[in-house]
Amino acid sequence: MTARTEVLAVRFGRHRMRRSAYFLHYEGYGEPDDDIDLDYSLWVVRGPSGTVVVDTGFAPEVGARRGREVLADPVEALAAAGIDASSVGTVVVTHAHYDHIGNLDRFPSAEIVMARREYEFWQGPFASRPHFAQPTEATEIGRLATLRAEGRVTLFDGGHRIGPGVELVELGGHTPGQLVVVVEGEDAGAVLASDAIHSYEEYERDRPFGIVGDVAAMYAAFDRIREIEQRPGTQVVPGHDPAVLERFEVLPDAAGAAVRRVL
Ligand SMILES: [Zn+2]
Repeated sequence: MTARTEVLAVRFGRHRMRRSAYFLHYEGYGEPDDDIDLDYSLWVVRGPSGTVVVDTGFAPEVGARRGREVLADPVEALAAAGIDASSVGTVVVTHAHYDHIGNLDRFPSAEIVMARREYEFWQGPFASRPHFAQPTEATEIGRLATLRAEGRVTLFDGGHRIGPGVELVELGGHTPGQLVVVVEGEDAGAVLASDAIHSYEEYERDRPFGIVGDVAAMYAAFDRIREIEQRPGTQVVPGHDPAVLERFEVLPDAAGAAVRRVL
C-alpha cells in the first residue's frame, strides 16, 4: 500500500477587523459595515515524498505586537502535531508577509522555496514604501536575503514541482509572486490558496482583498483557482477563513492550535 498524501491546516492565531478594511473599496458595494474574523494558519503536506511545511506563520511576539490573538506558537503547534521543525527539509513560502514568514530561523535544515518574482520584489526598491512595507517585517525580509546568500533559497518562475502531486503555481495579485500549492491525491485534491484567496466570500463574491499589489492579477488568480477547482474532488482552502475549521475533518488540537485535515 502506498502512503497517501495528507494535508493539514494548522490555525494558530486570529483577529477581528472591519469589512471596510478587509475588502478593497468596500464602500462601492453599498453594504453596511460590520466585523469580520480572520484566522492565521500554516499548512503541512505529508506524503510519499516527505513533509513539506507551507509558510511558517507569524512569530508570536510579532503577532502580539500587531494586536493579533496568538493562540499557539506555530513551531510548538507543529511539534505537537508530530512535525519537528528542526528536521523539516522543505518550507514553501507563499509570499513574504509577516504572518507567513515568521519563525524561519526555527527551520534550520529547510530549503526555502518561493517564486523568484516574490523574492526579488521584496529585495527591490518598492519593498520599503508604506503600502507594501506595512504587512512585512524588515528583519524577516532581510533574513530571506541571508538565507539566499547561504544557498538555502530555491527560486522558480511560474511553476515548480515539489514532489509527486505537489505543485506550486505562481499567481501574483496579493503580492507580486503570491503562489498557491496544488496537491493532487489519488481521488481528491486541494488548493492551498494562502492569500491568493483569504476567504470563501472573497472568492465566491469576486471581491478583492484590501491589501493588494495588482488588482487585475488578483482577479486573474481567482479565475485560475476556479479552473483548478474543476478537477473532480478538489477543495479550495483559503488562507484566513475561519470556515476552514468547520468544513474539514477535526484532528486533535496541537499546543493550542486547531488542526484540520483538508486532504
Ligand atoms: Zn496572510
